[in-house]
Amino acid sequence: MSEAALTCANHPDRETSLRCNRCEKPICAQCAVLTPVGYRCKECVRGQQAVFDTARPYDYPMAVVIAAVGVALSIGVLRLIGFWGFFVAPVAGGAIAELVRWAVRRRRSRRLPLVTALGGAAGLLPYVAMPLLGLLLSLAGGFDLRLLGGALVSLLWPSAYGALIISSLYYRLRGIRVA
Ligand SMILES: [Zn+2]
Ligand SMILES: [Zn+2]
Repeated sequence: MSEAALTCANHPDRETSLRCNRCEKPICAQCAVLTPVGYRCKECVRGQQAVFDTARPYDYPMAVVIAAVGVALSIGVLRLIGFWGFFVAPVAGGAIAELVRWAVRRRRSRRLPLVTALGGAAGLLPYVAMPLLGLLLSLAGGFDLRLLGGALVSLLWPSAYGALIISSLYYRLRGIRVA
């Protein structure tokens, strides 16, 4: 069979000259997935991801604890430097991500970034729990505006730091996914 006569394995009506570089199956442009190692069919990419999903069960609690402690410590430090903390927060998130990757020995998992981000959110809790309580009290105490304003401000700063740290943590971890 000549190359020109190839048709996509999933779409027999489509001629193609592209083959999956792993299983050699002819694939059309729509069925091809560009991976760091070349074009592959969707089936091979799925199989590859299963192989790369190497995380052990205890990697998750470990990542959660590291992220929670890391985020809690980072917010504590960032609060001291105020506004400039917003520029440092993404760096802190990246550093926590590297720490998690090191702790799980670079084992990969598609769920790990999300689980780690949730752990990071737990690290934010100690900072927002008191202001939240103050917010509720100010509402219960006949809507004390001064108390309400104070609670909102003290809620805003750790939340903004936390959002920056956790999002950069999440995306850094996501970056290790193949294809
Ligand atoms: Zn294939
Ligand atoms: Zn196709």
